[in-house]
Amino acid sequence: MIESGTLFIVATPIGNLEDITHRALRTLAEVDLVAAEDTRHSQKLLQHYSISTRLISLHDHNEAQRSKQLIEKLSQGETIALISDAGTPLISDPGYGFVSQCRLAGIKVVPLPGPCAAITALCAAGLATDKFKFAGFLPVKAVAKQQAIQNLLSETMTTVFYESPRRVVDTLELMRNELGADREVVLAKELTKTFETFYSGTTQACLDWLKEDANHQRGEFVLMVAGEKPSQTNISAEALGLLKLLMKELPLKKAAALTAEQYGLKKNQLYQVGLEL
Ligand code: SAM
Repeated sequence: MIESGTLFIVATPIGNLEDITHRALRTLAEVDLVAAEDTRHSQKLLQHYSISTRLISLHDHNEAQRSKQLIEKLSQGETIALISDAGTPLISDPGYGFVSQCRLAGIKVVPLPGPCAAITALCAAGLATDKFKFAGFLPVKAVAKQQAIQNLLSETMTTVFYESPRRVVDTLELMRNELGADREVVLAKELTKTFETFYSGTTQACLDWLKEDANHQRGEFVLMVAGEKPSQTNISAEALGLLKLLMKELPLKKAAALTAEQYGLKKNQLYQVGLEL
């Protein structure tokens, strides 16, 4: 039995329909209403499991107004499950406004854990997982995107991005240009599906792999960038001296690039050292 007046946040499969918990199926069957990003899409999932609960839409364009309506229902004791097209709702998906308003209204919100593309990709990528940063989708606008990528120059944690197949080549090109050709990247594609693929390599190797076959660019991607290793061990005192001197007169990026050129070092590493200095 589920408690009346509760909102359940239910994770659904990201490809393989078997990736749904017993608890998720029981909850979807028992609630009064399922709020879904795309009702037609989610109807197929419910049908697959012979669940006949009524669906109602909640997406980016109606979230504010729909939230009020659903909070009223919850306040009257109805039970609602929130799902998205795939994976965990609110994770680069609608629902944040709704959940925060439910909390403010004192409504009980219960999460049901399940698939999330970021975590699924990360746990098999072979990159450091002790700490990581989930960065969602990169900005679409060129300047903001470049800035977001430049921020990775000093990022020591693994960073996880969602990426569209239409932009993945452009993103890798920008990463190669801004972070250098040898920063380690992992592409996780079509997770849990028939053509699930992990490709690990440098920014340049990943770019080459994407370009060598149009099929490599199709599907859904999680893009992970290894953290920059903060190490000063191979930097001589002279190189450090020059970096410090140049940093007084120039932006750090330029100072790091000039020092790198002079001493045959990696500009990302010098950039990182500059930040530490
Ligand atoms: N809420 C979802 C979650 O928990 O993962 C993410 C929704 S977001 C709108 C969709 C993005 O997630 C896709 O563009 C892709 O980057 C990633 N994604 C979703 N399913 C995936 C899959 N099966 N394989 C790889 N990436 C996937």
